[in-house]
Amino acid sequence: MDRREIAALLAYIGRLDQRTIRTDPGEARDQLAQWHALLGDVPIVTPHGWDARVAARQHIRTSPYQILPADVARPWESYRRDRLARHTDPTPSVDPDDQAAWSAELLDTRHAVATGAAQPAQARAITSGRQDIDPKLASRLREVGSCIPPAARAALAPWRPARAAREVALTQGLPDALSVRCPWCLAQPGESCRRRQVHPDGGARRTTQRATAHPGRLDLAIAQRAEQDQQPATA
Ligand SMILES: [Zn+2]
Repeated sequence: MDRREIAALLAYIGRLDQRTIRTDPGEARDQLAQWHALLGDVPIVTPHGWDARVAARQHIRTSPYQILPADVARPWESYRRDRLARHTDPTPSVDPDDQAAWSAELLDTRHAVATGAAQPAQARAITSGRQDIDPKLASRLREVGSCIPPAARAALAPWRPARAAREVALTQGLPDALSVRCPWCLAQPGESCRRRQVHPDGGARRTTQRATAHPGRLDLAIAQRAEQDQQPATA
């Protein structure tokens, strides 16, 4: 509150409780200076539920003691605390590799929430739909398309050939062999096919993952998809 707002607040308080009125000009000036020094960083009103006049009125309504600046500052502090406790940092819209900008945006959002300029973002809002998502962030996500950026994905491909083969199949519109259980090596859906290395004396030594699925598994996936496509779309 600036001095003008403090004066308006004091005038409002004076109407509710005559004891706070200072008739002597010097005393009135001192009172204004004191309240301004103590409440300069407290806003008179925010778009989201804070009003210093409501806090003052509440005190006069419920307390027999004359109002002090603390009786406005204390509700303001608990208002701030309550909002920050309900706030979950949303994902900033800036480039995650730009550490400074990333932290700055997180801090700015927290500050806006604490001072009542923005509503707290709750964890529920993150998990339920993406309708409130920042448009800048939405376009960044569309660009990347995945939590692993395309360049990193390409660099990783030689070290996870099964996964890379699966992604290639998906982008080409082929059926995903890994979506079914392998009838040959019995690998579960989602797991790569396995190759057994056999010791010369006959015992199995160890299994290694195959980069590609067994042909029978791919046939099964193709058959299953054809079956699904034939079912009438009732749902
Ligand atoms: Zn297999």
